[in-house]
Amino acid sequence: MTIVTRFAPSPTGHLHVGHAYSASLAYKQAREGSGRFLLRMEDIDQTRCRSEYEGVIYDDLKWLGLTWEEPVRKQSEHMDDYAAVLDRLFERGLIYPCFCTRREITVEIARSYSAPHGPEGPLYPGTCKSLSHRERDQKFEQEKPYALRLDMAAALKLVDVSQLFFQETDKGTIQCNPLKFGDVVLARKDTPTSYHLAVTLDDAFQGVTLVVRGQDLFDATHLHRLLQHLLDLPTPRYMHHGLVSDMKGQRLAKRDKSVTLQVIRENGYSQSDVRKLIGFKI
Ligand code: GLU
Repeated sequence: MTIVTRFAPSPTGHLHVGHAYSASLAYKQAREGSGRFLLRMEDIDQTRCRSEYEGVIYDDLKWLGLTWEEPVRKQSEHMDDYAAVLDRLFERGLIYPCFCTRREITVEIARSYSAPHGPEGPLYPGTCKSLSHRERDQKFEQEKPYALRLDMAAALKLVDVSQLFFQETDKGTIQCNPLKFGDVVLARKDTPTSYHLAVTLDDAFQGVTLVVRGQDLFDATHLHRLLQHLLDLPTPRYMHHGLVSDMKGQRLAKRDKSVTLQVIRENGYSQSDVRKLIGFKI
């Protein structure tokens, strides 16, 4: 089987050394396996994504010596694909509309005796899940904005989680626990998809066989594996790598301007300086 890897940045800022590591590692896996390396722009958040960031991402990756297949898949051009999948999930009773504002959710959580936390914060208390058809229709008529949430309980009826696994490079078989995400948002109020839905669909659509990404997304893979099961999608292998930190041991973030690849380039460092810094030879 041909190995297919990808690098999937969000053009919401400039790439830093950590991204250089992630992209180079994915590229190396493809090269060593005589496989394919893809690039995907995860630009669903149209309020935060900017075309100038996208342009600099291409420049940075070229400067690092990476090449990828064209055309680059841009998620913003595939909203209809995500919407079609959401329609199917809705027909199967696996998602429901949630009209709650952030504030309403916070208040509801504060009122409840137990407020379980998941990888992305407190779990949604399920307020809109219990709306009657009438209440729901009223809110639709009032044109209240809504997100679409996975009905985790309904989803878990369709799978034996004790048999839900993914393969992690160097670690072997990992048993999934998607329950920890609760009724996670699959389509946001402001954009008709979410990171979790779009990434899972696109990895399948693009035939990705090895997902290389940071350890910070390890938990997310438990949920992505559940979505793969529900949507009958193939399951790639995973390689979650350690995150590059700064001298103080803090994880690099897009807001740390000093370590962006653009600034590093402009300060006269070479591509091989960066490659050596992130532990790649030459
Ligand atoms: N777009 C995500 C990010 O920039 C990465 C998604 C992934 O690799 O699965 O953090």
